[in-house]
Amino acid sequence: MDVEPPDDWPYADEPSVCAACGSDDDRSVVVDSLGLVWGAAMRGGPAPSEVGDRTGTLAFRCCRDCWEDGVDALEDARTLVAHEGRGEPGRPFALDDEKVAAAARLDAERAAVRDLRPLEFRSDPEREHVRSQDEAVESLLDAWFADG
Ligand SMILES: [Zn+2]
Repeated sequence: MDVEPPDDWPYADEPSVCAACGSDDDRSVVVDSLGLVWGAAMRGGPAPSEVGDRTGTLAFRCCRDCWEDGVDALEDARTLVAHEGRGEPGRPFALDDEKVAAAARLDAERAAVRDLRPLEFRSDPEREHVRSQDEAVESLLDAWFADG
């Protein structure tokens, strides 16, 4: 089942210009791996709580100049979580500074949503788990931007 993005989301239908600088240079890279929740790191991106029970990916275009100027940290990135710390018990996950900094340069209005689907939960605990992850993402990003 396809779902439409809510009207108040900023995202474009298609990533037609560089999400960082707005250039329509043909020599550009398209990244379409980043999880929808991470749009919260982009300028004007909705918070994870606004993503709600939906899943999907974000697609954005980036011109060669911005790409080589640091946005390439997002190449094939699915999340902005740092690799260290992942899966270690008792340790909260941490953000990858380079990836967050790159995402923070992007304008959500120039990115597009792909594969938007409702999240199917098999159980209440599963739903709770996703909720708490969203909250963790939100507070990590809040802290990151407060420090930055
Ligand atoms: Zn650019």
